[in-house]
Order: sequence, then structure tokens, then C-alpha cells
Amino acid sequence: MVQESAARVTARPAETGTVDAVVVGAGFAGMYMLHRLRGLGLTARVYEAGGGVGGTWYWNRYPGARCDVESLQYSFSFSEDLDQEWSWSEKYSPQPEILAYANHVADRFDLRSQIAFDTRVTAASFDETAGAWLIETDRGDKVTAKFCIMAVGCLSAPNRPAFPGTDQFRGPIYHTGEWPHEGVDFTGLRVGVIGTGSSAIQSIPIIARQATQLTVFQRTATWSVPAWNAALSEEYLKEAKAHYPELRAKARARPTGFYFPFNIQPALQASAEEREEQYEAAWQRGGLPFLGAYGDLLFEKAANDTIAEFARKKIRSIVKDPGTAELLCPRNVFGCKRLCVDTNYFETYNLPHVKLVDVSTTPIERFTAEGIVVDGTEHGFDAIVSATGFAAMTGSFDRIAITGRGGRTLAEKWRAGPRAYLGIASEGFPNLFMITGPGSPSVLASMIQAIEQHVDWLADCLGHMRDVGAATIEPTHEDEEAWVSHVNDVSTVSLRSTCSSWYVGANIPGRPRVFMPYIGGFPVYVQKCNAVMNSGYDGFVLKGARNSNAPPQVRFTGRWQVPLDIEVISPAAVAAKRVPVV
Ligand code: FAD
Ligand code: NAP
Repeated sequence: MVQESAARVTARPAETGTVDAVVVGAGFAGMYMLHRLRGLGLTARVYEAGGGVGGTWYWNRYPGARCDVESLQYSFSFSEDLDQEWSWSEKYSPQPEILAYANHVADRFDLRSQIAFDTRVTAASFDETAGAWLIETDRGDKVTAKFCIMAVGCLSAPNRPAFPGTDQFRGPIYHTGEWPHEGVDFTGLRVGVIGTGSSAIQSIPIIARQATQLTVFQRTATWSVPAWNAALSEEYLKEAKAHYPELRAKARARPTGFYFPFNIQPALQASAEEREEQYEAAWQRGGLPFLGAYGDLLFEKAANDTIAEFARKKIRSIVKDPGTAELLCPRNVFGCKRLCVDTNYFETYNLPHVKLVDVSTTPIERFTAEGIVVDGTEHGFDAIVSATGFAAMTGSFDRIAITGRGGRTLAEKWRAGPRAYLGIASEGFPNLFMITGPGSPSVLASMIQAIEQHVDWLADCLGHMRDVGAATIEPTHEDEEAWVSHVNDVSTVSLRSTCSSWYVGANIPGRPRVFMPYIGGFPVYVQKCNAVMNSGYDGFVLKGARNSNAPPQVRFTGRWQVPLDIEVISPAAVAAKRVPVV
């Protein structure tokens, strides 16, 4: 019995008519896009499948959900007033607070009236004669727009593996990415959790506090670093806010789009004692910056082996049962999959009612009315949590019938892997844009910064189209191919390309193996975007322009043009394989 949130859908008449832009999704990307479109004086309609704003933070309400980029940086940076007036309560604030922030932004910038909630876009087709998109929804809306902007999220299409017999299980099955709004009380229940990714490692310690019995099904052991989460004092916030613009500027110059101190020196040039000291200090700081202990950790396997062994020793020192500790020790490249950040994850396995079941060689066979069968043994449960992640990067595109020029569908074009110029637009689909699409830094950066940079670039592009009177913009086939190859080439430099993660689509059976995000680093990517813009949109074809010589105006992208005298990571550093990418 798959558990879903109770529907609270209000009736409204189906919409028709024309707007300048339709935006699909009202997470941080859709919200900021709407704000910028309004700033340009364009008319816009946003369609959002959920009942409110916030995207990820609207859907992922599982216990323990919180950000893994510090809240002071995992937030919009476009408004200094917003930075000053909002106060985060914790270093890594919990989901309800991030959702409250999203709602605050919606109210403060008066966004709600242009968003239609509980409405899923089902199709978008380009009408070549009209030079416009027809967007259709599951509520009968049929709206025409010159621009169609996909702000559908990189991690928004839940992955529900097709385990045989799921419909037979007598209890509820919850997916972390579609958690009931009313919350779930596991008190007194026997609970099974499938998965050990970020969602699982955040929820397991909390579920364990309530459940009488908790069984975790682990296919791949997880690298996780303590968050050392803490409340932020008023003094700390005051000091941080006094220097907020500097922090934001430093963050923009980082390969990850967020700031933390890191050491560019190679691990292999340090002695074993120095490394131990450095890793210990980094572990004590905790979180994703642990990977910044040395510059070569994601490039040189021998360097990576040293941090991996350090982290395995930590697991062995925390988990008392040696057999369980060994099962929890990952054997793959450290940080190859998205690194997890936890509070008491490994400690939870010391509780007598918590059990780990290895499904790496004997997969989950089936669900029964009573529970889950592995290797012929039935594990009985009252409730099951599927922390099995997402059809990442392209999953939400797959769920919309997108048809471009000549009747070609995006699904067809992307069958062998996504193809998009700069991760923003795809040849054959004029005036269709994607925020943090495949081929952009997206999930390898602090995502709100990646979103803002894309939206600002796109807003400047749309402003330019209006200035020159262009009807459509579309990448050339050659430039798109060159960018896709570059994204692929850069990925091979990093050890990140070597394991079966959702970055390469390997978590979904049958997907082509393609490294989807751009791993060359955020500032390098921003420089490329700026160069494209400054050249008058090199790599794109603008059709119908009356005044094609008008130079592009910098309306919004100025703040991404990073001065080189702050700690920027240069293309040379990327080429020299010395960039810690989180
Ligand atoms: P989303 O927030 O995913 O929003 C997309 C919206 O589009 C959704 O609301 C969805 O309902 C809607 N949508 C999709 N398809 C349709 C359709 N066809 N019709 C209508 N609406 C549609 N990133 C970080 O940088 N730091 C973090 O700490 C971090 N923590 C995370 C924690 C969790 C649990 C998860 C799942 C992701 C996390 N991420 C984090 C990534 C996170 O997804 C981004 O940071 C960010 O919230 C993405 O915003 P978005 O607007 O691009 O996409
Ligand atoms: P995930 O990282 O993809 O983890 C899914 C887990 O389910 C993995 O352990 C996976 O095992 C397991 N799994 C999938 N299919 C399975 C099957 N058929 N049988 C057994 N196990 C199976 O998903 P997620 O934890 O939801 O996280 C996704 C991303 O969202 C993160 O990487 C991160 O970017 C973001 N996120 C961030 C936070 C945060 O800390 N702020 C929290 C949650 C999510 P395998 O590893 O073997 O595939």
C-alpha cells in the first residue's frame, strides 16, 4: 500500500490564453525565475504539481530532513535585504524552516498570484508557425507562451524500484521524497528502511528513536561525515550578517558555489602523520568540507585511498559490532557518490533494536503481506520507508511530453543521454530553457547559487531577445555537441565518474551511463556562460532579430562576473586536477 499525501486540491476553471513565459515548477528555481521575469516586465504563469512553493522542501518532509550546505549559504543571495532580515536557527536548518523560508520569499516578493498549484504540466509542444509553445496540464489548461522554462528540479522524480509484491504489503510504504504532510509516528512499530543514501542516513537515527525494531536494507555502504550541527547564536548571526556580501562573493568564486576553507595541496605530498592530523581536523569541522582536506582527493586514487581508510577507521571506532562495522565500511571511492552528512548515523547501529541487512549480493526478492524477503528470509514490518532516491537530472523531463521542431520529442533526442548546450537549452527546442539542466554544475554546486546564476543569465538573454526583437533562440548542433563532449571529457578527470551513482544515471535500471552534471567547477562554468553572453550568444542562433548588432545588456549577471583577485579556482587548476569538487 503506497502512502501518499492527502490531496487538498481546490477546483478552478481550466486556463487558456497567452503569456510571455510559462515556468514549470515552483521550487527555488521557478520562484526566482518568476521574480526575474516580472522584473523584465514579461507576463508569466507558473505551474506547480505540489500544493505550495519550495519544491524539494515541500515534498521531502521525512524525519531529519535538512540541508547539507550551511543555511547561511544555502539560501538566495540576490537580495541583501532578504539576507539581512531572515535568520536561520541552525547551521544546517531543518526542512520545516527551509520551507518557511521559501514561503517567506513567495510572500515577500509577491509571487503566489502567478503560480497555479496542484497542477502538473503534462505536455509542451512547439508550434513552428506561431513560434510559440503550447503547454498542457492535468487540469485541462492549454496555454500558449513564447518561452517555456523548465524549473522542474534535478531531484524531483522519486525512484520507486519495481520490487515484486509491493501491492501485497499490508502496512504503509512511504517514499522519503513524497512524505505525508501530516507526518508519521513510528512509535511502537517495526520499520524497514530501504536505502542508505542521504535521505536514509538523515531519517534512520530519528526513526530508530521511535520504532521498536528498525531494519535497514543496504545495497551500497555510504560515506558519511558528521554534520556537527548546532544552533546559531544571535552573536554569530550578527557577525555573519555584517560580512554577508563578502561571504556571498567568496562563495561565487568556489568550484562548489559555496565557501569553506580548503587546502589545495596534494595529499600524496604530505606524510602519513600530517595527513592523519589534517583529516582529523577536517573531520572535527565536519560536513561536505571534509573533502577539502586536500586538493587531489577526487583525482588521484592513491590519495583517495588515504581519506577512505581514515573514514573507515572512524566507522570502526563508532560501531561496536565488528561485523556490522565492516558491512558499513564502504569499499568504493570516497566521495564518489554524493557524500552524506549525518547526525548519529553510525551510532544508531549500536542500538539493540537496529539491524543492518546486506542486499548487495542477495537483492530484495519481494514484498509480502508481512514484510520483505531477502535470501529466503522474511523480515516482518508494520511500515516500510523507501529511501530509494530519484530518477535524477532528467526524471522530471521524462514525465512531460516535450515536442520540438519537426515533431521531434525530447525523450527521443535524449534516449542515449541528455544533450543540452550549457545545460540551459537543447537544439531543436527553440525558446525552451532548463534551470540547472544536465551539462551545468547544478547538483555539484550549492544548488541555490547554481539556480540564481542560470536564472540571471537567462533573464539577461530574454532581455536581449526583446532588445533586438528576436523571435527565437536555439543552440547550434555543433556547439551543443562540443559542450556535451566537453562535459563528458571533464568528468573523466574526476574519480567521481568511476562509480555507479545517480550522477551517471546508474541508480535506474536501463538508463544510459552518462555523467550528467558539469564537474569543471562553478566559476569556470560561469566564465563560459558570461563569454557566450558577451559575444552576443555565441553557439546560439537568434532568429527574426531586427537589430541583431545591439550588444547584450548586463542586467542581472553582473554579480556572477567574479573578480580574479579573490579565491577563484582557475581553469588551470581544473586542468591540473587540483580542484576539490563536493
Ligand atoms: P525542486 O525543488 O525539485 O522543484 C521543482 C518543482 O517542480 C517541484 O516542486 C515539482 O513538483 C515541480 N515539477 C516537476 N515537474 C513538474 C511538472 N511536470 N508540472 C508541474 N510541476 C512540476 N541542494 C543543495 O545545494 N544543498 C542541500 O543541502 C540540498 N539538500 C537536499 C535535500 C534533499 C532531501 C533533496 C531531495 C535535495 C537536496 N538538494 C540540496 C537539492 C535540491 O533539490 C536543490 O537544492 C533545490 O531545492 C532545487 O530547487 P529547484 O527549484 O531546482 O527544484
Ligand atoms: P540516493 O542517494 O540515490 O540513495 C538511494 C538509496 O537507495 C541508495 O542507498 C541505493 O543503493 C538504495 N536503493 C535504490 N534502489 C535500490 C534497490 N532496488 N534495492 C536496494 N537499495 C536500493 O537517494 P537520496 O538518499 O534520496 O538522495 C538523493 C540526493 O538528494 C542526494 O545525493 C543529495 O544530493 C540530495 N539529498 C541531500 C540531503 C541533504 O543532506 N541535504 C538529504 C537527502 C537528499 P545504491 O547506492 O546501491 O544505489
